[in-house]
Amino acid sequence: MIYLDNSATTRAFDSVAQAVHTAMVEDYANPAGVYRMAVQADKLVEGARERLAQSLGAAANEIVYTSGATESNNLAVFGLANALRKRRKRFITTMVEHPSVFETFRALEAGGQEVIYLNVNKDGTVRLDQLAEALNDNTLLVSIMHVNNEVGAVNDLERISAIIQRSAPQAVFHSDGVQAYGKLPFTSVPAHMYSLSGHKFHGPKGVGALLIRQNVRIGKGLLGGSQERGIRSGTLNTPGILGMDAAVSHYMAEGQAIRAKLFACKKRLVELITSELSDVYINGPEIEYGAPNILNMSFPGVLGEILLHSLEEREIFISTGSACSQKKQNAVNRTLNSMGITGRRAEGAIRFSIGAFNEIGEMDTVAQVVVEQVNMLRKYAR
Ligand code: PMP
Repeated sequence: MIYLDNSATTRAFDSVAQAVHTAMVEDYANPAGVYRMAVQADKLVEGARERLAQSLGAAANEIVYTSGATESNNLAVFGLANALRKRRKRFITTMVEHPSVFETFRALEAGGQEVIYLNVNKDGTVRLDQLAEALNDNTLLVSIMHVNNEVGAVNDLERISAIIQRSAPQAVFHSDGVQAYGKLPFTSVPAHMYSLSGHKFHGPKGVGALLIRQNVRIGKGLLGGSQERGIRSGTLNTPGILGMDAAVSHYMAEGQAIRAKLFACKKRLVELITSELSDVYINGPEIEYGAPNILNMSFPGVLGEILLHSLEEREIFISTGSACSQKKQNAVNRTLNSMGITGRRAEGAIRFSIGAFNEIGEMDTVAQVVVEQVNMLRKYAR
C-alpha cells in the first residue's frame, strides 16, 4: 500500500499515538482542577503550548487550542465579526480558500457585510494587485491561506502583511496555515491570526489551534467554563493537545530532513512521469516554488476519478482534490477554475500529497503505475 493523500490527513507518528495513550490512561485529570494530578495535567498542556508557540515565533498566551482548523477558521472570522455589533465593514478573502474559510465569508455576505473575493494567478497564488486595490479604511479582516491544499501554491505572507500595513493598518490579517505548518520553514508567522490542524502533520484528528496575537481583540467562540482565556470554553482535549505536541516536537527536531525528503519525492515523481508521458500538465506553481509535498497534475484524455480508482486497485491512494468537496455532487473546483483551468483539464486533475512516511523508492512504483494506467486509459478514450 502506498498512501499519497497526506493533504487530506496523515498517519500519526508512533510518538503521537504513545502520547495520546499516556494522556488517556495516566494524565487524564481535568487540567482546570486544583489538586496535584490536575496541576500535573495542566503543566503538561502548558509545556505543549510553549513549544507550539515557539515553533510559530509566538508567545504561549497567543495560542488557543481548538478542535481543528475548521473551528480555528470559524473562530477567527466570526470571532472578529461578532465583536462588530451591526456595523458594516469590508472583509477580504480569496476564491481558493478551504470551505471552512470560504463559507464563513459567504455567511458574512449573506448577513449584509461587504465581502471581496480576490482572484489568483495562473499558479494559484493570490493576486497582490487586487489585494492592494481592495484594501480601504473600512477593511476589518483579510484572510488569505498560506499554502493552497489542492495545488500547493505558497502565498508570501510577509509581502501580504506589508501591503496590508501600508494600505489598511487597522485591518486584521488571518491566514489558514493548515497545509504550511511543518512543510515550510518559518521562524515567525507574519499574521495576526493563524490556523493549524494536528492531523495534517502526523498528529491526532480533532485537535488544532488558533494563534491570536495579543493586540487582536476577538469575540468568544464557545461559551461555557471560560477555558482558553474565555475565548474557547470546554474541557481541554489533553490527549489531542499532548498528541499534537509530540508531532510538534518531532518537526522541531526533524523538520528540515522531512522537508528535504518530501521535496526529493515530489521531484522524482514529476521527473519520472513527465519523462515517460506526453501531454501532461502540472496544475500550480513550478515545483520548486510550491509546497514540497503537493503535486497536482492533469492527463488530458483521462478522467481524474477513473485514474484514482485504477490506482486504488494497485493499492495506491491519491485524490482528485480536497476530500472535503469530493463527496459533494457536481462540486465545481473553485481553485482550478480560478487558476483558469477548466473543462477536461480540470476534470482530469489528480493530487498526490506526500508525507513523512513516504519513501523515495515508492515514487518509482507510483510513476510506473501512473504511466501504465494513463497509457491504457488514453487508448480506450480514443
Ligand atoms: N484548511 C485547509 C487548507 C485544509 O486543507 C483543511 C483540511 N482539509 C482544513 C482547513 C480543515 O481542517 P480540519 O480537518 O482540522 O477541520
